Amino acid sequence: METGEKERADEQVEPELQALRLGALQELVRRVWGYSELRPLQAEAMLAGLGGRDALVVLATGGGKSLCYQAPALLREGLTVVLSPLISLMQDQIAGLEESGVQAAMLTSAQGLSEKRDVFQRLRAGGLRLLFVSPERFVVPGFFEELSAFGLAALVVDEAHCISHWGHDFRPEYRRIGELRELLPNVPIQAFTATATPEVRADIVRQLGLREPDVLVGSFDRPNLTYRFLPRADEAEQVLSVIRRHPGEAGIVYCLRRSDVDSLAPKLAAAGIRCLPYHAGLSPSTRQSNQERFLSEDIEVIVATIAFGMGIDRPDVRFVVHASLPKGVEQFAQETGRAGRDGLPSECVMLYSGADFHGWRNLQERSHSDAAARGVEIDPLEAERSLARLSEMYAFATSATCRHKFLVQHFGGAWEQPTGCGACDVCLGELAPLPDSVRVAQMILSCVVRCQQRYGAGHVADVLRGASTEKIRTCGHDQLSTFGLLRDHDAREIRHWIEQLVGLEHLRVAPGQYPTLALTQTGVEVMRAQRPVTLFQLPVTPRTRKAAARRGRVELRPRAGAAAGVEPGAVIDSGEELVYDAALFDRLRALRRRLAKERGVPPYLIFGDRSLQEMAATKPSSLEELRTVRGVGEAKLRDLGEAFLAEISRG
Ligand code: ADP
Ligand code: ZN
Repeated sequence: METGEKERADEQVEPELQALRLGALQELVRRVWGYSELRPLQAEAMLAGLGGRDALVVLATGGGKSLCYQAPALLREGLTVVLSPLISLMQDQIAGLEESGVQAAMLTSAQGLSEKRDVFQRLRAGGLRLLFVSPERFVVPGFFEELSAFGLAALVVDEAHCISHWGHDFRPEYRRIGELRELLPNVPIQAFTATATPEVRADIVRQLGLREPDVLVGSFDRPNLTYRFLPRADEAEQVLSVIRRHPGEAGIVYCLRRSDVDSLAPKLAAAGIRCLPYHAGLSPSTRQSNQERFLSEDIEVIVATIAFGMGIDRPDVRFVVHASLPKGVEQFAQETGRAGRDGLPSECVMLYSGADFHGWRNLQERSHSDAAARGVEIDPLEAERSLARLSEMYAFATSATCRHKFLVQHFGGAWEQPTGCGACDVCLGELAPLPDSVRVAQMILSCVVRCQQRYGAGHVADVLRGASTEKIRTCGHDQLSTFGLLRDHDAREIRHWIEQLVGLEHLRVAPGQYPTLALTQTGVEVMRAQRPVTLFQLPVTPRTRKAAARRGRVELRPRAGAAAGVEPGAVIDSGEELVYDAALFDRLRALRRRLAKERGVPPYLIFGDRSLQEMAATKPSSLEELRTVRGVGEAKLRDLGEAFLAEISRG
């Protein structure tokens, strides 16, 4: 594109222009959003936008992608159109912008004629800089030509991974966005996503026809999330112990099947947790209402299948529990990514068991045979790919390497924190190595061999602990030399070690109806003591200072190593120590809830937790002082300032 190239050349000779633009952006962000600093890569992304260049911006969830396209839209002439896959996400963004005093609107195919007319009216009047459009709306012939009349300055594709088959959330309507490049050759396109695998990235560039795009890839690490993986034992008790570490805080509990949701939610409710279920088997109105009660802080916990989450922008979710294994590492990252979007410390706990592996496989087989019955063709490669993703997740679950490191490397990033992350069960030392790992591993492996590699983990564990089950007696396995070798340990422990050996790929679980165990080549080497191995004891329940420290002063300490090793794109907000008045914080949250209800918006659009914590720490007594709190822009200062000052002075 000629103009594009010319602009690029201009950029190079005019660093002053860049500096001017950056200054204007910073001033705007401070005034409208109340943020005094830009996060990593936000400046670069905004400058690409203002420079009219194509760009692909990959930032972790909570990295602040929206600001990257919202701010330039307000500074340049013409209209910025944002394509976004979900109406609820668009509504949320628009409501948030309006709270900050910025005009924005959306066009979707769900709107009535008068609403549409209204939007076009506002476009003609010239007050709109940002227009959100749903993908099925934009493929209506002639739509973009019509918008061009208003001076289309840029096209933003949010959640751009939806364009790729390789991603976890492919949407066919997204495929057609590529046609726009031909229709509107002079309009720059900026794509945003949090999905970072190289295939997806390359696919986005190709499908959208991006031209010499600025590719800005941040770190995928979410330093404010603490990951813990636990073998599942007493599910309800384990989930409850996580919830109890977060009194009064929001959380999501993910289950594998609808029936799991239906059995777990009442157990939690019976234990006094204010929670509601969410899955595709509930009526749309129940789903909608449960989701709204979660967003409006009416309840704290939602128990859901993975049907819940897309379009949930609540930034103060403090914990995500997976009651069973997620479908793959990408899905794990996506689902746990819903915790701590505001950058504050949050916890992700996964409970897993070998049984989940088979649970998913059954679900998949069922959905494939359903599809086949409906005459839908299944890509056999897709079935294989999803099994591979599951195996990878299982290996991750049962491994004992730093969780942050694994995730960063999985998404193609480099991990340079030799001291460990300080925010996962492994680095926090919650997993204790088994002193006689080698011997235990050898016993398990040879027991698998003695059972002729024809039995599953449950049976092998029974043989090792010397159980007297009917199956053991009929097979004569009580006569094996390995019978009762681990009689001092219980089945749960032994299963835990077997799963680790599967995770380490020393044992393989046979595909098919019966999940039998067999040795791999490395398994044979471990058995013969030709290869080292470390197993871990069953984890102990983590203690947190947090629950103890509540009521009174809550201290949020910087994570070990966080300050030293922050990578570009990392959310560094949590790295600062903040000591605040917890009682005042609770009162400010109540005020926020009240004001949100009056205005019919979710509470987090009023102020984020971080803003309230800063208020509860610095206790501003004038509008001037309040203005310095992060997240307090001019419009909010005007609208909400007095109410919050009054509440603060009451304490
Ligand atoms: P993403 O879309 O990348 O997941 P969001 O755009 O929703 O992230 O931003 C996450 C949170 O971070 C939001 O609450 C947003 O207001 C906040 N945020 C974004 N940029 C900044 C910044 N420069 N300083 C402070 N907070 C920010
Ligand atoms: Zn770690």
